[in-house]
Amino acid sequence: MRKSTQAILQAAGDKIWQYAELEYKDVEFSEEVVAACRANFCGNYNKSWKCPPNVGTPEENKARYAKYTQAFVFTTKHEVEDSYDIEGMNEARLEHDKVEDLIRPVLPEGSQILGAGGCNVCKKCAFPEPCRFPEKAKTSVEACGINVVSLAKKTKINYTNGENTVTYFTLVFLNGNES
Ligand code: SF4
Repeated sequence: MRKSTQAILQAAGDKIWQYAELEYKDVEFSEEVVAACRANFCGNYNKSWKCPPNVGTPEENKARYAKYTQAFVFTTKHEVEDSYDIEGMNEARLEHDKVEDLIRPVLPEGSQILGAGGCNVCKKCAFPEPCRFPEKAKTSVEACGINVVSLAKKTKINYTNGENTVTYFTLVFLNGNES
């Protein structure tokens, strides 16, 4: 196990449901993922600095993150009332974000976190006015065109975890190269 993985697991306590170490080459960037964003079911397409098309194309992101050779992926699993429990899912997302906050201080400097869902630092994104908190703004795995289904398959992490649960993914591109 990598030292960074040990540090992440220690920092997160029991909050991580499943995790895996992986290499950059295992991460699949796909135009199809962004096509789903363009369908705009969430209403954030071209409404946030950290959602498509404002985060670059999958090809551009593939090039942007190519300098990272190693990555770490984790999920959190949360109970919800049912598949219409939007409030429960939003609360779960905030719980998931807290795990990112727990692990951020122990990541190798310069690592990049791609989280779950769009940037939620502000109640309403300032877009197209300049971002209010560029240091805190965050993008997501899907927004960068990364195929989470294929990521789950490759790492043997469950994409879903059963009825009345919601599962969130975070991918961390790790700076440095650990053996
Ligand atoms: S920090 Fe605020 S303004 Fe910047 S991308 Fe996130 S929500 Fe938008």
